[in-house]
Amino acid sequence: MACLAKVLAVFCALLVSASAASAHTGRRVSRLRRAGAAKGAQFDNDVSQTMKSQYPWYHSSDEIHAEATRLAGACNGAMSMRTVEQNGVSIDVASVRAKGTSPSNKFFLLFGEHARELISPESGLYFLKTLCGETSSSERAQEVLKDTEFEVVLNGNPRSRAKVEQGDYCLRVNPNGVDLNRNWDEKWEGGSGDMAMTNPGPAPFSEPETQIFKQVVTEFNPTVFLTIHSGTRGMYMPWAFDMEHLADRNQGAMMQILKDIDAEHCECPFGAAGREVGYSCPGTCLDYVYDQLKADYAFAFEIYTSEDKDADLKARWQAKMQQGGEALLQQGVSLAHNHFRDVFAGHSSSDFVQTAMSSEREAALQMPGFDCFPNFNPDSQDTFNSVVSNWADAYLDMAQMVVKDRQAKTSQPSQAAQPPAAGAGAGSAAGDLNATVASLMAWH
Ligand SMILES: [Zn+2]
Repeated sequence: MACLAKVLAVFCALLVSASAASAHTGRRVSRLRRAGAAKGAQFDNDVSQTMKSQYPWYHSSDEIHAEATRLAGACNGAMSMRTVEQNGVSIDVASVRAKGTSPSNKFFLLFGEHARELISPESGLYFLKTLCGETSSSERAQEVLKDTEFEVVLNGNPRSRAKVEQGDYCLRVNPNGVDLNRNWDEKWEGGSGDMAMTNPGPAPFSEPETQIFKQVVTEFNPTVFLTIHSGTRGMYMPWAFDMEHLADRNQGAMMQILKDIDAEHCECPFGAAGREVGYSCPGTCLDYVYDQLKADYAFAFEIYTSEDKDADLKARWQAKMQQGGEALLQQGVSLAHNHFRDVFAGHSSSDFVQTAMSSEREAALQMPGFDCFPNFNPDSQDTFNSVVSNWADAYLDMAQMVVKDRQAKTSQPSQAAQPPAAGAGAGSAAGDLNATVASLMAWH
């Protein structure tokens, strides 16, 4: 019976995907790609169907590299660029630190782990422009740079992105067919082979891309880590691998930061990631940097899905929050909890919240005719502009909130592990949650 139910559910998901794809037909000419053809796909070099021909406001990989290189020479001396190479893969790493400052906060941002999520590196490039004085938020960025330095991987999956730019819009994994966000050495599990798009690879850090990520993020030793994805909207903190155990370090502060950023920039699901029992979400960068590198603050953002899906997601999330969800979050449950199951059904399922529905979504994405591009990326220039601008502001907010939280802890060291006094800004609710979490853990 369970098997039959799953088959029916997958079938329904496929119907939804088909109708979603048809809704976009006629709005533009778009090539429909079969996700399953991603690995080993043939590319016909039909320039009328490339990313640049269909969505010319997006940057090609060469343009991203050129823009970042230009910024490094025009950022008041604050930015530098280097290229890290490993087994034939080259990845650009940008560093931004204002001259004459000694920032104590170190913020690492990882863009573009999944190739088809083109908007992720675009938001990173816009953020670098903001830090370098070229956008309307640059004045605030100068304030942020007094306390925070940044290291940025702009284009984390460059070989596969090149194929996406040629029109293979469903390609997520690297050229070896490995999901870079399942290849980190944190609760890594060998692949069951059931999902081609979440293949964890033959071993942890088996891929040149993840070897480079590990090297640069370890050397930088961040206080705050953020990985940026798309395909839904949501903001998450550890753990992604588990829903039974609570992240026990700094959880209250991270939750408060997500709550504040959510109100201003997302109005979308936020909280501890998680996985439903039986569904695998190990080996993520989010958990690795938090657990192995002991970053004080670790987050994953998913910054875009198509506007119709986003409206549906927002309605479902707000309903769940009003029906007791807010209290559950305050108790520290993860988003994989049964209460939130419907939120992550179908196409709004997240890469960091793994449920049975997530598997169905992946199955839907492999159907012939599914139009990946608008599911992961804005297909109008106006939306593109508002997305990159909104999230650059959110990254600045995050830097400021982390600095404020760290300063509060430094000035009140005896209360670092205790609920801060009322009126201590973001810290007070964080403290309450820490106390709740501590009591829950004691109970376990
Ligand atoms: Zn992703």
